[in-house]
Amino acid sequence: MNVKVAEHAGFCFGVRRAVDKVYELIESQEKPIYTLGPIIHNESVVGDLEAKGVKVIENIEQLHSVRDGVVVIRSHGVGRAVYELMESLGLSYVDVTCPNVLKIHKIVERESKAGKNIVIIGNAKHPEVEGICGWSVSKPVVIETVEEAEEYQAMNGNPVCIVSQTTFNYNKFKDLVEILEKKRYDNNVLNTICNATDDRQRETKQIAKEVDTMLVIGGKHSSNTQKLYEISICECGNTYYIQSPVDLDSEMFQSSSCVGITAGASTPNKIIEEVQKHVRIKF
Ligand code: SF4
Repeated sequence: MNVKVAEHAGFCFGVRRAVDKVYELIESQEKPIYTLGPIIHNESVVGDLEAKGVKVIENIEQLHSVRDGVVVIRSHGVGRAVYELMESLGLSYVDVTCPNVLKIHKIVERESKAGKNIVIIGNAKHPEVEGICGWSVSKPVVIETVEEAEEYQAMNGNPVCIVSQTTFNYNKFKDLVEILEKKRYDNNVLNTICNATDDRQRETKQIAKEVDTMLVIGGKHSSNTQKLYEISICECGNTYYIQSPVDLDSEMFQSSSCVGITAGASTPNKIIEEVQKHVRIKF
């Protein structure tokens, strides 16, 4: 069986870097290891880390009860106040905030200090956006919907700096910016959307066009995997959404000579490799 595995399948570089760092710390650290929130939305990875002694801190308040140990700041990043709190508590930390997110922190800090109003296009409840807000010296505004964009008014009529959550949908970002542009403020628009999601979707579409069977691997509740499945099935009717090699069935490969494999952002490499091996050996 000819098997094509998407280069951008599974973890993006920011998530891979964060997860690898935690495993590295397990090997090198004597002290207890904590992650500020789950390092990734994947139960098997978080479960494995827990079994190796890594504890998840669910909220900032819990930092007060950490006495000794190393706290890992995950790829989503955190606001300035969280760094200050950890420093005041004397906690050691390892920062694996994705460089793409750090770049937004720097923009927001610089531009807000320069007196600009900060607008973040994204979901206000997402930890990444909460972290970005925490770098603005003035009160930032988060906009996610057309209504919110229409209602927006820049404070004091000052210039506006617009950034985006890294995983926001580009077309939606464009539409919201268009509404804001009509208000004729002095806008500085910075598209800070990360291209990892886009690359993965584009590659999935391309591979699905070239193969007889397409396997999309990811957690049942993963919305980005669901999206990959939808993209794939439009190009290859023989597309299957699986979670692990256990879901493979010989019927999926009847009269197939070429199989494509892609995976959502929270699918560990190990599972992608197991599926690939299984397809090559068994079918
Ligand atoms: Fe991954 Fe992009 Fe988010 Fe970084 S910014 S963690 S590369 S999706």
